[in-house]
Amino acid sequence: MLTLIDNPVPWPNGARCAAAFTWDLDGDSLIHIARPRDGDTYVSTTSYLRYGPEVSLPRILKIYAHYGLTQTFFVPGWIVERYPAQIEAILAAGHEIGHHGYLHESYNQQTKDDELYWFERALATYDRIGFRPKGFRAPLNEFSRHTLDHLIGAGIEYDSSLMGDDVPYLLTSRARPGEVLEIPQNMACDDYPQYMHSWDFGIEMPIQPPSKALQLWTEEFEAQYENGGLWLSTWHPFLSARTARAKVMIALIEHMQAKGDVWITTMGAINDHVRACIADGSWAPRRDLLPYDISPIPEFARTMPGQPKG
Ligand SMILES: [Zn+2]
Repeated sequence: MLTLIDNPVPWPNGARCAAAFTWDLDGDSLIHIARPRDGDTYVSTTSYLRYGPEVSLPRILKIYAHYGLTQTFFVPGWIVERYPAQIEAILAAGHEIGHHGYLHESYNQQTKDDELYWFERALATYDRIGFRPKGFRAPLNEFSRHTLDHLIGAGIEYDSSLMGDDVPYLLTSRARPGEVLEIPQNMACDDYPQYMHSWDFGIEMPIQPPSKALQLWTEEFEAQYENGGLWLSTWHPFLSARTARAKVMIALIEHMQAKGDVWITTMGAINDHVRACIADGSWAPRRDLLPYDISPIPEFARTMPGQPKG
């Protein structure tokens, strides 16, 4: 067979590929960051989002307990403060929580100092309840030109906001020494394009049978399985754990577990394993130097044909 991934990670215990069902537990932070002045008036949409921490989360934890899995949840600091019982339940069951901003703010829309303020405010929230996240995912994946430097400064070991490879790779910074492991996402395994339908957010994906999403994610998984890659979902409890869609996750778990050689694990465990492989020389990662561009590209210093002046 023609191999499509040239540098697969040697996964532990002879596993052919790794899989992680990662969740972004955004809850109702999304309406307040989108509507900072009148978010309180969007009662129905708030209920749609609160379904995540209130109804989906206990369902997800029950499913993982049934199948003997621990997984990773990226949770904004504000959600940690608002839903303490849910956070306690996640941690008590042995799952991992990663940094996901304070109020789901867009880091690439802020100054470096403002970004650092919100980043550290979330860290302080996690500190108050006694854990230090090992990993980070930028809200909306809006990783800025400075985000990597903040991660290095805070000792965050891995990021999962970027999409530059099929397998983990290292991020190095132009501005400060240090490295962060990127555990990349695949937009095809994000649930917004499948399920997000909200008039108030202006995102109205056509509502389809969950079996279509199952087919997509199964094909994505099979490709990773054949090539020694990494299957990683970016899901949101208010979307992907509603009743019929929760059955999609159950079907995927059963499909993966039936293979017998799929490592279904947390992002933190993937980070630890990959770093150990790099340290003992059994695997060498690709490296990306960030930011890719330190300013708008110079070609635009001159007006291009067809470009409006000014
Ligand atoms: Zn999010």
